Formats: sequence, C-alpha cells, structure tokens
Amino acid sequence: MLSENLTPSIIVHGGVGESDDSIKMEKMNTCQKAASVGYKILMNGGKASVAAEAALSWFEDDEFFNCGYGSVLNEIGEVEMDASMMDGSKMEIGSVAAVSDITHPITLAKYIMENYPNSIIVGEGAKKLAKFANLNSVSKGSMIAPASLCAYKSAVSGDFQVSTFDSSAVSEALKNSSDTVGCVVWDGERIIAAASTGGLNKKLVGRVGDSPLLGCGVFANNHVGCCLTGHGESAIKAGLSRSIVNCISQCQTLSEALQINLDNLQKQTAHDCGGIALDKCGCWSIYFTGTTMPYAFIRNNLITYGIDRGEKITKPYRDLSKEETCYCK
Ligand code: ASP
Repeated sequence: MLSENLTPSIIVHGGVGESDDSIKMEKMNTCQKAASVGYKILMNGGKASVAAEAALSWFEDDEFFNCGYGSVLNEIGEVEMDASMMDGSKMEIGSVAAVSDITHPITLAKYIMENYPNSIIVGEGAKKLAKFANLNSVSKGSMIAPASLCAYKSAVSGDFQVSTFDSSAVSEALKNSSDTVGCVVWDGERIIAAASTGGLNKKLVGRVGDSPLLGCGVFANNHVGCCLTGHGESAIKAGLSRSIVNCISQCQTLSEALQINLDNLQKQTAHDCGGIALDKCGCWSIYFTGTTMPYAFIRNNLITYGIDRGEKITKPYRDLSKEETCYCK
C-alpha cells in the first residue's frame, strides 16, 4: 500500500442520473464551487469534517440538487431528508433520517457525530436535537423548491406540464433520478465521508435511503472513504460502500473496486448507482453506471471536474465560492 500523503484533498459529487445538456454546465459549476468552499477550509488548516459540512451545505442551499432546499418530495408532497458523516480514522459516525424543516441536515449529522455516542437519530429526537443545537429551522413547507414540486406533480399525474416552468430540465431530471450529493475529504489526519439527500421522488413517508446508513451509501476506514449515489434500496441490500472499501483494503485499486461493485450491482438489480472514493495517499476515483454524474476533485491547487463518463477537465484551482456563475454558452 502507498504511504500516507499529508496533502489535503477533497472530492464532491452531485448525484448519478440523467442531466440534460442545458443543466450540465450548471451542475459542474456548482460541484466546483462546493469543492472550492471545502478546499479553502482545508488550506486554512480547517478539519476535514468542517470542510465536508461546508461543501455539502453549499449544495443544500442549491435548488438544483436533491438535498436541503432542492430535495425531492415524498408521496404526500413533503420534504424528508437524510444525511450522514463518518470519520474513518476514528470510526465515528453521525446520521439523521427522514428529517424535515431544517436547512442543513449535514450540520445535524456532524453535530451528532461530534457530540453523541449514538449513531442515527430520526423523528422527534432529531427535531429536538436540531433545536438544541440551534440549527436553522424553517416553517413547514418552506423547503419545497419549485423544481421539486414540478417533478413531484409530474410523477403523480404523469401529464403535468413541466415545460411551463423555467427549470423544466431540472424537474425532469429530479423526477426519475438522483442528484444526491456527497464528498470524501482528507485533511492530512482524518478521512471524512459524508452525504446529504432528499431521497427518491414520491418515496413512501418515512422511507430511509442508503445515504444515512453507514456501509451502504457512505463508509470510510482509516485509509479510504467512499460515498455513493443512486438507487438506495439496491445499495442497502449490497452493503455497497462497505464492500467497496473492503475491496480497496484487500488491494484492489479505487477504480477497480468502484467499477466491479457498481457493475455487479447494475447486473443484479438493473438499477444505476455511482460512487466516489479518495484515500489518504491522494488517489481518487469516480465511476457510475448511469448517464451522468457531476463531480469535482481538488488537490495541490489543481481542480479536476466533469460530468460525462470518463470526462476529466483539469485546471488551476482558484477560490470560486464568491464568484457569480455565468452559464452563457
Ligand atoms: N441514494 C439516494 C437514496 O436512495 C438517492 C440518490 O442518490 O440520489 O435515497
């Protein structure tokens, strides 16, 4: 196994799915910004958990990703979110499931990881904890974004005219696919893997996906972290992220482990998933069986990003978090 490298690095993804050409650029830009927010923290000596929280909070404020304000809706048209964070170096975890009316579930997951010996908190307990932690809570219904409402109505009635809405491409994508977000961060000392999601469009009330379940959607040990997206029920049955991390620990490369596990799952279940992995030597990989998966990776002041299969664009890193985005072609 390669020796540990102290250079901090971060990889984020914006979910496996089908992205229309009109929103591909936007998704890649947001991934770069989210990674940039986390990387800046690492460069200032901040911890991996803080960088992961900042990166995922960035996505949670963006209505074009299926988490926080962009979460898809459940069968009765409400938002229920899952999030988790795992510190692989300490084997510590925190996660929340089916939570509503808070803006940043990832912050609550981090709070649990850092303050309590319990792992997964749901329902009333999560609500109380969010209040206790002074997290930004909002009134019922205010986390429902227009694109998610369109995706929901379209899925419920089948004939809802998503084209009447500006973000029709986004709602169309949310209707059938994922856009969950996740990241793996190495700060020179700890590996953190984290995820945040609204789950699946029109899911049953109370449905919990793979993202808050350690070893399913998110897993890390003291060498490598892995974070997944896609059909949660399939990832749960396969214990997918733990299986990928185990394969890497048994000397498969990151890309072999991702590819073999995700291809197998696709063959067995006919459902698509995607994943990212990063280890403390600075090796990283992304693989998915769906059509697109936006991601961004930053290390040594270089940013690599893409969305289509095999796409890897590399350029010098600069702090993008404060820049306005221009999507002009
Ligand atoms: N894995 C998530 C879930 O099933 C969905 C996603 O990746 O977008 O809850």
